[in-house]
Amino acid sequence: MSFNITPAKRIQMLPEQFFAKLVAKANARASTGGDVINLGQGNPDQPTPSNIVERLKQAADNPLYHKYPPFRGFPFLKQAVAQRYKADYGVDLDPDKEVAILFGGKTGLVELSQCLLNPGDVCLVPDPGYPDYWSGVALAGADMAFMPLTAENDFLPIYDSLTPDQINRAKLMFLNYPNNPTAATATPEFYKKTVAFAERNGIVVASDFAYGAIGFDGKRPISFLETPGAKEVGVEFYTLSKSYNMAGWRVGFALGNSQIIELINQIQDHIYCSLFGGIQEAATEALIGPQHSVQQLVATYERRRDVLYKALDEIGWKADKPSGSFFCWLPIPVGYTSMSFADYLLEQADVVVAPGSGFGANGEGYVRLGLLTSEERLKEVAARIGRLGLF
Ligand code: PLP
Repeated sequence: MSFNITPAKRIQMLPEQFFAKLVAKANARASTGGDVINLGQGNPDQPTPSNIVERLKQAADNPLYHKYPPFRGFPFLKQAVAQRYKADYGVDLDPDKEVAILFGGKTGLVELSQCLLNPGDVCLVPDPGYPDYWSGVALAGADMAFMPLTAENDFLPIYDSLTPDQINRAKLMFLNYPNNPTAATATPEFYKKTVAFAERNGIVVASDFAYGAIGFDGKRPISFLETPGAKEVGVEFYTLSKSYNMAGWRVGFALGNSQIIELINQIQDHIYCSLFGGIQEAATEALIGPQHSVQQLVATYERRRDVLYKALDEIGWKADKPSGSFFCWLPIPVGYTSMSFADYLLEQADVVVAPGSGFGANGEGYVRLGLLTSEERLKEVAARIGRLGLF
């Protein structure tokens, strides 16, 4: 007799994990022995700065951290992120009421939908956009309305093009600048418009600022929370994953509106009891210790960007350079879909790129490349693609 496991409906509603599929394809190709260059994912390639690692090593000896941490994390970590925001963006945050500690930004993004959405509600999501927004909305049993991001509008959504029904049913919207996958950045005017739109229609704004530290050509990306009124209507998600090469450490924050922060903390009270104390201490070192590693990291990505775009230009693949994030959003040649082009590059050049359609229907026509390998390897990518004679 076989025992029957029936998954809950909410599991069945989950979208396919796009990146899991991409990794499987890349691994399958690598297992055939080829020298695969993987630019398809968003996993930082550099190590965490040594002062942060050292701090964890010392903190691991502290018996205080061997016990359960406080449910909502240590106050020193919340104070540290508030201090960082004040220094970098001039934003005042109450560490106690306006900061929630998260197991990485991804967790918070999924939790927020559980805090705010009921079946029948609508969540406005960018298209193309980061697929984890969809996961949270699906778990909440709510509906999505896609906001197209197009090159013609600098990859910013146009609120006037949403229908009255979408606006009436919408309770939440996700924005993400510097943007994954398009690498676009936001302007103060756009955020002002966003606050006004959110206020007028009672829609909570979730600004995903995962790439907040990475802006090029001397331009620091702006935080949504710098916008007057932003804290009234929303929260920002901030993570140490990209700014400090700490993707494996799983440290993120939700910041802003105290009611929403309380909801996130409430749901987390039922699921976790905060991060390991030693990680919280090392994360504090990241946030308020020396920041030159962040500047060096941004300079590294900028040099890689310039090297790659020069090499792509030389093979005839023309595109605008990204202004932030560590991604490149490149139009594909005619005759391909983004999926067939990505497959072609994998099979013919051993290069992994992410097909734009994996980020939504409006991602069709593009592929995303991450600047997550050395300048030499990026030149090699361009050389291999150049040999295919596509451009
Ligand atoms: N948001 C965006 C747009 C991302 O690209 C990522 C990671 O790739 C995240 C959020 C999640 O970051 P983490 O969970 O590592 O904090």
